Parts: sequence; structure tokens; C-alpha cells
Amino acid sequence: MDKSYKGSCFCGSVQFTVTGEPAAMGYCHCESCRTWSAGPVNAFTLWKPESLKITKGADKIGTFAKTPQSQRKWCKACGGHRFTDHPQWCLVAV
Ligand SMILES: [Zn+2]
Ligand SMILES: [Zn+2]
Repeated sequence: MDKSYKGSCFCGSVQFTVTGEPAAMGYCHCESCRTWSAGPVNAFTLWKPESLKITKGADKIGTFAKTPQSQRKWCKACGGHRFTDHPQWCLVAV
């Protein structure tokens, strides 16, 4: 059985699971990540898109793409940041 991890946004409207092992993880402190996360660094894990399942509130996810490489997603109810899609790398940051 692959391990899975559950997560949710601040208010719980959006819930998801990721299964298996992340492809990569890390911190980024580029200007985009700092202004996106409102913090000095943005921590993330990178997953193949098929590892991520939105179990609740998929319709409550907003998207903003500052650059085509990064489609940043958040919960429309509480504003909690959730994912960043990187379509050209075929990875999702959670
Ligand atoms: Zn929320
Ligand atoms: Zn960054």
C-alpha cells in the first residue's frame, strides 16, 4: 500500500490527499514565492499530478497564473494557499 497524506486549507473547505512519495521537496525564496506565501520562504513538496486527489471543494479552488509556468491555487473561502501547478514540468507543488 502506498502511503497517503491528507491535507486541507485553513478553513477545511478544500481537502485533498497525496499518495506515494513526493518527486521532490524544498524551500524557495524567490520574489514570487515570498510575495505568494507572505513569508521569507515558501516550503513545498512536488508531486506527479496523478498523486494528488482533491477529495472536497474542488469548485472552491481559485487560480492565478503570474507566469505560465506556475498556476498558483488557493481556497476561495479562506484564502489559504494550496497548490502550484507547473504544467511544463508535470509536477504539482503542495
Ligand atoms: Zn479554505
Ligand atoms: Zn520561488
